[in-house]
This record gives sequence, C-alpha cells and structure tokens, in this order.
Amino acid sequence: MTTPAKAFGSSAATSALAPMGILRRDPKEKDIEIEILYCGVCHSDIHQARNEWHNTVYPCVPGHEIVGRVTKVGSQVTKFKVGDLSAVGCMVDSCRTCPSCKSGLEQYCDSWPTFTYNSADKHLGGHTFGGYSTHIVVDESYVLRVPKNLDLAATAPLLCAGITTYSPMRHWKVGPGQKVGIVGLGGLGHMGVKFAKAFGAHVVLFTTSPSKVADGLRLGAHEVVVSTNQEEVMKHYRSFDFILDCVSAQHDVNLYLNLLKLDGTMTLVGAPEHPLPVAAFSLLMPRRKFTGSGIGGIAETQEMLDFCAQHNIVCDIELIPMQKINEAWERLIKQDVRYRFVIDMASLKSV
Ligand code: NAP
Ligand code: ZN
Ligand code: ZN
Repeated sequence: MTTPAKAFGSSAATSALAPMGILRRDPKEKDIEIEILYCGVCHSDIHQARNEWHNTVYPCVPGHEIVGRVTKVGSQVTKFKVGDLSAVGCMVDSCRTCPSCKSGLEQYCDSWPTFTYNSADKHLGGHTFGGYSTHIVVDESYVLRVPKNLDLAATAPLLCAGITTYSPMRHWKVGPGQKVGIVGLGGLGHMGVKFAKAFGAHVVLFTTSPSKVADGLRLGAHEVVVSTNQEEVMKHYRSFDFILDCVSAQHDVNLYLNLLKLDGTMTLVGAPEHPLPVAAFSLLMPRRKFTGSGIGGIAETQEMLDFCAQHNIVCDIELIPMQKINEAWERLIKQDVRYRFVIDMASLKSV
C-alpha cells in the first residue's frame, strides 16, 4: 500500500526542478511516517540532480537534511510516537550485518547504504526520493531525535553539513592546542568553523570570497585568509595539524597540503565532479596524510545533534519557499549563500 506525496524534482540533468507526484509506502512494522517541516539544500543535491557524479536515475527528488513531525508509527516502533519531532539525514537503511554497519559506521556499509535519494528502494522497487517532498517513511533505526531547544529550520542542515564536518574532526581528534584549517565557507565550511572552534582548536578559514571575511570571524574563526592571495596563504606553510577541505568545485589541493606540518592530515569532504591532481611531494615531505570522509553513522549523528543542543550550535540559514528553489540553486553555485538555504516545506502544500 502506498500514499501519494507532493515533491519537487528534476526529470533530466538539464531540467529545472518542478512539481511532481511520488509514492511513499505505508509504514511497515518498524517504520515511521514523517511530515517534513524543513529540508536543507546541500550542494550534493545539485551534483546529483545534474548528474555530475554520473550515476543519477530520474526523476530525481533531492533533499537529505530533513526535520519533521511523526504522523504515523508502525506496530513495532519503540523510539517514536505520533507528534514527536524527528530528523532524517543522508541514509535511510543499510545492510546491518557487515563490519561497518555492526560498528556504527553504516555510511561505509560494504554493500553501500540506501541513500535518502538516488538509491534502490528495497520496499517499492525503483529508487528512493528525498526530502523536497511533503512526507517520507523511514525505518526508525535510521531516524534521529531532535533536541528540543534548537531552532528547527536551523537544525535541518545539521543532518548533512553538520555531521559531515563533525565526524572527521572527531575521528582525527581535533582539539585544544591544534591549528585547524577550514577551506571554503559554504554550508559545510561554516559548520566546520563552528565545530573546530567548539572543540577548542585555533581555527583558520580559507575563502575565495573577500566578502565573507567578517562572517568567518563572527562564526568563530581566529584568522581568515583570502586564498586568492598566495602570499597570505604561504604565511601558514607547514603549520597545520589538520585541514578540512569543503570545496564543491575544482581547486588546487596542493596549495593546502603544503600548509600541513609533519604528520599533519588533510581530509577531503567536498565532492567535485572531476579528479583533483595531487603532487607527490605535497605528501612525501613531510609525511603528510590526505584522507576522505563521508557523512557519519547514525549513533554519531545523534551524538552531534546532542552536542549542538548542549553548545547551542545551529546553522546560519536563509529560509526559502519551495517555489524559489531553482533561484537558490543558481545562487549556491555562485557561492552566494549565507550559509545554508532551508526550504520551508509548508510552501509545498500550496503548489
Ligand atoms: P556550498 O555551500 O556550495 O559551499 C562550497 C564552498 O566552496 C563555497 O561556498 C566556496 O567557499 C567554495 N568554492 C566554491 N567554488 C569554488 C571554486 N571554484 N574554487 C574554490 N572554492 C570554491 O557546498 P556544500 O553544500 O557546503 O558542499 C560542499 C561540497 O561537499 C560539495 O561538493 C558537496 O557535494 C560535498 N559534500 C560531501 C559530503 C560528504 O559526505 N563527504 C557531504 C555533504 C556534501 P568560499 O566562497 O569561501 O571560497
Ligand atoms: Zn548533503
Ligand atoms: Zn552494511
């Protein structure tokens, strides 16, 4: 049994987002149905809908920064009841049996997790549809609890931008006494700055946008460097313990690798369409690490939300109606976002 939902999606790589109807399964025993209140706009939504990762199935309904209210629960649901706030991030299922799943790293599932959109739908066939829609049905094991004290709209982007920056910094033990670089002040980057500051590091932001310098400092960076000025960048040569690269487009990673000190680590979370060339000597001397990181597991995502509640951390957002989504995407591509668009899903009801 299924229920129709209203959604916004694209029917081809070159088409604009437009209203469309999709089907959601009726909740099974362990499922909950969520009325989506807010959905963040991640740059991955654009990469995916425009087939920049060369694996998109259409129609594509993006959205994986979801906050909403529980409207139905299956007979065996224990974590949620009707009326509760809840949140869904980038995955809605995984195999649950491989070593990664068993150790709470479902995002690295050996068989790949079921992503919130553009993954095979185990229940209805076809593929999954994301949060640019009125409601979604998800197994409660992949749903997060939303702390009560946080602004709901500003919480939505924590489900991707938040966990994607929190997880690698926890993994590489960012903390007091360390010098940490954040590259790119977009949705991910601005959360990277907030978390690095909250973890007690000395934070240096690298931005290509001179207009973002004041915001970088306001968000918590101790220093902001406009990265088009190579002389200013090279003042930080061999000085960083850790750098988080949050850039969505082609850029020279060697520039930043050269800023790492002995045994320093740079983690790539940005996912540009094309490969990024790495010069051997950016890594060899002095013994640097270039690593990657993808979102975070369910338990760690809950830990991140609880950390945010404790430290009063949310995203800086611009709330938009669904009708403005195509304009918002164009602005995102032009680096014109302060610092995450969030869709007020009530606007979809009138479409
Ligand atoms: P975003 O809001 O568009 O931010 C990207 C930032 O990168 C921009 O604000 C800009 O910062 C910088 N930038 C853009 N074009 C650039 C260029 N040509 N050269 C240098 N810098 C440039 O995007 P986002 O939503 O934060 O996502 C960032 C990337 O992370 C995307 O590729 C996304 O797909 C990926 N992502 C990965 C994961 C994961 O699990 N690893 C999760 C979510 C997203 P400045 O203006 O400050 O220079
Ligand atoms: Zn995302
Ligand atoms: Zn697995």
